[in-house]
Amino acid sequence: MTKAIYPGSFDPVTKGHLDIIKRSSKIMEQVIVAVLENPRKIPTYDIEERVKMLKIVTEPYRNVQVDYYQGLLIDYAQKNNINIIVKGLRAMSDFEFEFQMALVNQKLSPTIETLFMMTNNKYSYLSSSIVKEIAGLGGEISSLVPPEVHDIIIAKYRGQ
Ligand code: ADP
Repeated sequence: MTKAIYPGSFDPVTKGHLDIIKRSSKIMEQVIVAVLENPRKIPTYDIEERVKMLKIVTEPYRNVQVDYYQGLLIDYAQKNNINIIVKGLRAMSDFEFEFQMALVNQKLSPTIETLFMMTNNKYSYLSSSIVKEIAGLGGEISSLVPPEVHDIIIAKYRGQ
């Protein structure tokens, strides 16, 4: 059984994230998109909002579930019988950190493999931070985020 976890902040979900979700759901039997609750980072969208947005955009994919976790990714993976960690790679700048994380996770749990999926070149520049920066300045983000969650994302910046 190929049961994968796709972890991240998803603060908020972008078209780049959704592209990785779609592509991994085609090759894995089950994909859990897991929102990381990181006590060191103050998110813009709280955990419930991030999970809700992910649930909306992954609705069409029957083998994709959404969850959240606190603590070590490897612990969550072991508890849930997950054997693959999926990561997206945009640029060399992602590589260095992800390389280190993959090696640490391999050390902690040799049976769990990290698989890297290259970004779709349409989204290689796209990150949650870019979305927030543009939305915060009143710019148009509809080409950057899934249409189903566009209004939820924008609401944060319109005081609604
Ligand atoms: P970010 O805030 O940089 O978007 P996340 O922690 O939410 O980061 O990212 C979760 C995962 O999704 C990471 O593996 C990251 O490399 C990947 N990812 C984020 N944006 C993209 C993109 N545009 N294309 C491919 N992978 C991406």
